[in-house]
Amino acid sequence: MSSLLQMKFVEIRARIAAAGDGTPATLVAVSKTQPAAAVRDLHGLGQSAFGENYVQEALAKMAELADCAIEWHLIGPLQSNKCREVAEHFDWLQTLDRAKLIGPLARHRPADKAPLNVLVQVNIDDEDSKSGVSPGELPALAAAVAGAPRLRLRGIMSIPRPWPTLEQRAASFQRLRVLFDQLKAGHPDIDTLSMGMSEDFELAIQHGATMVRVGSALFGARARPL
Ligand SMILES: *Cc1c(COP(=O)(O)O)cnc(C)c1O
Repeated sequence: MSSLLQMKFVEIRARIAAAGDGTPATLVAVSKTQPAAAVRDLHGLGQSAFGENYVQEALAKMAELADCAIEWHLIGPLQSNKCREVAEHFDWLQTLDRAKLIGPLARHRPADKAPLNVLVQVNIDDEDSKSGVSPGELPALAAAVAGAPRLRLRGIMSIPRPWPTLEQRAASFQRLRVLFDQLKAGHPDIDTLSMGMSEDFELAIQHGATMVRVGSALFGARARPL
């Protein structure tokens, strides 16, 4: 076991706790490009939620780590032809961005599993390169998820533009916070605002993130950039 990983894990958890008041934000460890052995090590230290971007890469790790009680989150774009695998194997889908995926996801969610937890992805800075709905499209898509069998609407997820200044990043997080609060007014059960990554998770927590997705700050820089 790498003691460097342990040091980073302890440090990140302390920073998450210090950035918020009350219940600390949930840490999703982003393990894309990391070998299953690294996931096993971190799980052994007490981390339970892991985020993966690619379905095939995730399925291979799940098979190797079947003996670990891991909560798997898909945080990369979902192609329609992967709905079945996601419904069968993941615990959370953080990147729902279109209504036509809802039917296949609900249909393929196994009856013996808890409902699939779903976050609607919001393209908060209106970037061509990013998936996600516009703020205006959010209410209808969220309502469709909430009305679907075997899916559980939990909230929203976003990857804001990596703005150069903290003020600009804070403004994106703040707009997401407002959107989340507005959505919660109509869906009182939602509890998850997933925003913030290695470079800005503390700022995200200061603006109301309840879940942060951290990869390189935990595992070190990725060899294969994403
Ligand atoms: C890769 C990735 C992360 C983690 O990024 P780091 O900067 O390594 O923390 C978080 N969220 C999504 C959607 C990602 O693709």
